[in-house]
Amino acid sequence: MTFVYDFDERCDGGRALLGGKGLGLAEMTQLGLPVPPGFTVTTEACRLASERGSLPGAVLDEILDHVRSLEARSGKRFGSETNPLLLSVRSGGPISMPGMMETVLNLGMNRATARGISRLTGDKRFAFDAYRRLLQMYGSVVAGIDATRFEQAIELLKERRGIRLDSQLTASDFSELAGWFEAIFREQTGREFPTDPREQLTSAVAAVFASWEAPRARVYRHEYRISDDLGTAVNVMEMVFGNRDARSATGVCFSRSPATGDRRLFGEFLVDAQGEDVVAGTRTPQPIDRMKELFPAAFGELERAVAELERHYRDVQDVEFTIEHDRLFLLQTRSAKRTAAAALRAAVSFVEEGLIDRREAVQRIEPAAVEQLLHPAIDPAVPVDVAAVGLAASPGAACGAVVFDADDVAAAALEKDVILVRPETTADDIHGLIGAVGVLTARGGMTSHAAVVARGMGKPCVAGCGSLHVDLENRTADLGGHLLLEGDVITVDGTTGRVVLGAVPLVEPEPNADFQVVLEWADEERALGVRANADTPEDALRARQNGAEGIGLCRTEHMFMAEDRLPVVRQMILASTDEERSAALARLLPMQQRDFEGIFEAMTGLPVTIRLLDPPLHEFLPPAEEIEDEPTRERVVALHEANPMLGTRGCRLGLQWPGIYEMQVRAIARAARAVERRTGVAPQIEIMHPLVAFEEELARLQELTARTVAEEGGIAYRCGTMIELPRAALRAGDLARHADFFSFGTNDLTQTVLGFSRDDAQGRFLTYYLEHGVLADDPFATLDVEGVGELIRVAVERGRFANPDLHVGVCGEHGGDPASIAFCHEAGLDYVSCSPFRVPVARLAAAQAALAQVNETAYVLAGG
Ligand code: ADP
Ligand code: MG
Ligand code: MG
Repeated sequence: MTFVYDFDERCDGGRALLGGKGLGLAEMTQLGLPVPPGFTVTTEACRLASERGSLPGAVLDEILDHVRSLEARSGKRFGSETNPLLLSVRSGGPISMPGMMETVLNLGMNRATARGISRLTGDKRFAFDAYRRLLQMYGSVVAGIDATRFEQAIELLKERRGIRLDSQLTASDFSELAGWFEAIFREQTGREFPTDPREQLTSAVAAVFASWEAPRARVYRHEYRISDDLGTAVNVMEMVFGNRDARSATGVCFSRSPATGDRRLFGEFLVDAQGEDVVAGTRTPQPIDRMKELFPAAFGELERAVAELERHYRDVQDVEFTIEHDRLFLLQTRSAKRTAAAALRAAVSFVEEGLIDRREAVQRIEPAAVEQLLHPAIDPAVPVDVAAVGLAASPGAACGAVVFDADDVAAAALEKDVILVRPETTADDIHGLIGAVGVLTARGGMTSHAAVVARGMGKPCVAGCGSLHVDLENRTADLGGHLLLEGDVITVDGTTGRVVLGAVPLVEPEPNADFQVVLEWADEERALGVRANADTPEDALRARQNGAEGIGLCRTEHMFMAEDRLPVVRQMILASTDEERSAALARLLPMQQRDFEGIFEAMTGLPVTIRLLDPPLHEFLPPAEEIEDEPTRERVVALHEANPMLGTRGCRLGLQWPGIYEMQVRAIARAARAVERRTGVAPQIEIMHPLVAFEEELARLQELTARTVAEEGGIAYRCGTMIELPRAALRAGDLARHADFFSFGTNDLTQTVLGFSRDDAQGRFLTYYLEHGVLADDPFATLDVEGVGELIRVAVERGRFANPDLHVGVCGEHGGDPASIAFCHEAGLDYVSCSPFRVPVARLAAAQAALAQVNETAYVLAGG
């Protein structure tokens, strides 16, 4: 087995073996682009090292072999005092995890080589700056020394010299600093900094492998569902220096704007700096366009390289580069993290440019990411008092309470929305970014840690806000002259960079034209219908605008809750005689009819599934202790149930109190006729009975429905049932004899199959399960395919066997979840129904499920 591959060596292991960074370096090298020579130690070596607890000898030997061939190729020698080879060691797993793993630069240095480099370059300052950087990075990454130790030493030296900037430090300052760093190393570890470059290299590789197990890397993987078994690869490559002089620079560059997707180079660079300086956000970089003037030749070459990479990968690229003495080197390429708007713009233009076809465009858009487009913005009609402006680093607007420490975000976020406010963020703040609704930083550019991570998460971020000064010690900040205390509410607008004191009204975003195009392409591919859950005409209209093909669930209980209805509903429930009850129902009837008319009109030409009253009656009643009147209180107490979720609700209620369902069916029939008279189009009505378990329940309710409709002079309608109890799923064959359609109520079905009460699970044992890995996914968000899914498959099969025309859908939160939608497609359902604003996401996910199946079939047919 081979553990190490040169960048110019063929390797079939791809990303899984070389990691994303290693694969990119190999591909760039093999395309003939200027990459410093180097090699990749595979993820297989990482797994082996994890198992053994140390770097296996075979891996070590191969690494040293490859160092020898680097020496032969460059004419430099590792550890030489006259012409030393310097290396970087960088991690890179199969899936990009920005900033999660550590890098060590300038490996191969010690005091003697520093003097050698000083002689060779005639630049002592550069040589000792490089050496102290090695001490600093090696010290913190490999030896685990607290990085602030080194930073404090730098501050102390600057104080003594009476200077403010690192750039003012002289050659002898760096030499002195290197001495201090060596002392810190000795004091913190009890041994000398290893002067042997081979020891430096092997311990650095081992440390990178070990960093795969670091807590912050685990947190990131957990959040993004990345397997802990993948391991990371390590890339070792010859150093190039962007910090040699004013003819040197380092930067990052996107082939298209990661914010909008527009086709132009986008990025930033720093003159006379090493790579880390750009990402760290300690100096504010210049926009890439300036490079054209300052480094015309390198800029031209960069433009050509980036265009070639984009053609090669057929995707937007994010490239790291360094210029040493006007010579361009590429250090990394990867698919660019981008906003949803940029992803759509780029996908649509790639189709126009002939780089990809429509199907590929549809498959490339991440359904979860397009939710960003559905993010709110500050209401443009409301004048806002802008306290400060920073970089518009990740779009969308959010209001929340200020929190300064990532460790405090989770607790604060339980009570309110939180904005994380930091001088800058690092990988150690990842949990704070996860818990916050938005981020604000004082320093850092468009590619700073905060900006990159927030864009990936689809959260608003304002970075590099110069008039923000955070005082971490006292937990206050100065925002454009205003004092900010922890808990103060601010609004960040990552689309424009504005920061506003207090909460500002937000509005829904403008429709995105590229998204509409991609959704139309998606509609051509999908087999699943997409409906919406809507209880009001307004929701129905919004659903329709978003492309819903009907209402899959119209709950009628909200119609009973409205303020003008509730007193009548209570009269109806608490009536002591039949006459009293009938009178109350008679008053409810026209109100319900109006509700249905509004919804039918909003959905003209499309099906509407109406679920008859479902919740237990006590939900409509005041608490017993609030009732003065004795007999009424007794009635309320009598209706009390120990476990209402499993009590008198759904069809059980309908059978025991037939007047309610009769009234509802009457209202539906009358509304249908009224709307048909007005519009000339008969509504497509589906009447649905909730919580059915037994054939007899449905048979009786179907009879009640048919009789009542007939009494009203008849309308066209279909009658069906929710499937939300395990018995209903198992006996689907019996139920299908009385049903035109099934709708899986996956929320209740999940509760009843798992025996989880949702309200008692979330925030309690379910949270524990998710945090401790007992369950990988929240079954209320992503369908439990193995359990609930199997029952759904059984029910579909038995239902369709008994009634081949049976129409089957899913309503419930899962109808808008991409993974659950993929299951619904595979299980052969006819449609999913989700909340109106998720309809576009569902359309896209349904198309992707269909395309994934096409790809799989093609693979099988091809003998894969
Ligand atoms: P990350 O995954 O955090 O981006 P990298 O492995 O890309 O980490 O390295 C961090 C920084 O070090 C990058 O900015 C890169 O430009 C710089 N760097 C890495 N290797 C070299 C090298 N051989 N010569 C010069 N700079 C390097
Ligand atoms: Mg990088
Ligand atoms: Mg239900």
